[in-house]
Amino acid sequence: MRSRGRFADADLEGVRYESLDAAEIEARWPGWTVPAHYRGLYEPDAGYLYSERCVAAYRRVALAAGAELLTDTAVLGIEAKRGLTVKTSRGEFAAGKIVVSAGAWFKSLEPSVKLPVRALRKVVGWFEADERLFRAGAMPGFTFGGPSGGYYGFPSIGGAGVKIGRHDGGRPWQPGERFEPFGAYPEDEADLRAALREFLPGAEGRLIHGAACKYELSPDDQFIVDAHPEFPGVLLAGGFSGHGFKFASAIGEALAEWTESGIPPARPSAVLAFPLLVGNRSFNPIRRSFTHEQP
Ligand SMILES: Cc1cc2nc3c(=O)[nH]c(=O)nc-3n(C[C@H](O)[C@H](O)[C@H](O)COP(=O)(O)OP(=O)(O)OC[C@H]3O[C@@H](n4cnc5c(N)ncnc54)[C@H](O)[C@@H]3O)c2cc1C
Repeated sequence: MRSRGRFADADLEGVRYESLDAAEIEARWPGWTVPAHYRGLYEPDAGYLYSERCVAAYRRVALAAGAELLTDTAVLGIEAKRGLTVKTSRGEFAAGKIVVSAGAWFKSLEPSVKLPVRALRKVVGWFEADERLFRAGAMPGFTFGGPSGGYYGFPSIGGAGVKIGRHDGGRPWQPGERFEPFGAYPEDEADLRAALREFLPGAEGRLIHGAACKYELSPDDQFIVDAHPEFPGVLLAGGFSGHGFKFASAIGEALAEWTESGIPPARPSAVLAFPLLVGNRSFNPIRRSFTHEQP
């Protein structure tokens, strides 16, 4: 399933929104400079997540439920011999069920697990902005696209500056390769600055902070959430293609249900806006990719 466009998707999923022309956008949020032929979709019920606080909450809830977290422990491989075995830098663990969600590092798990996930280096920047126009509450989170690319961002939250990143583009990266920090390439800052200059000129101030991180792209930007075709006790979740964080709770819940029951759950409601591969054998990216004991 491909996206039919934001308006059609929103209509189909019953999302409440307002359709605004360029003049209406500029009148409501004067920080914007919008080409006259653009239309905007404003979703009054949308918001943003404080990702670090979310991760801290996941961790707290998991520990309270009896989970043991082994940080700084590398998974070196997974084998299916007399049950499932996870080999790590801290020894081997026997498992009845396994969920593998290695993000941009899936390639490092080959040949145990082979997913068609391509990692890219991406950058984001926080820029000093006119707080009257761009502070949280005065302006919502945003995405926009133009001839030069597609961008997303957030208002200045607590004076942190306007955050902006580019969704398309990025430099290929592989686990094990050197990962260049923000600013290693002139375009890291210049590209974000050019988009601000064109669409949000009052937010093209001093660079407060820049960061580099990794996207993990599936071949068609669809999420890959599936059971291993040969080992149904192994669930794989990856290729979140730059959109995964906001769905983490729903995907995690779906994987937990699947792990407990052995039955693929119905599509979780929170991921309706994005295509999701659940139990789609036609995709079949991982057939015969495990090392396992020969009979
Ligand atoms: C710049 C940027 C902006 C983004 N913006 C948004 C956004 O606005 N909204 C949104 O919804 N999403 C966004 N995303 C995407 C989102 O962050 C990802 O989709 C999401 O984090 C993917 O979750 P994951 O658990 O699959 O992978 P990750 O969060 O990458 O987690 C994978 C984990 O596995 C660990 N790991 C890997 N290999 C091994 C191994 N061999 N042994 C042990 N541990 C291992 C890694 O250390 C890592 O902790 C953005 C991503 C980037 C880079």
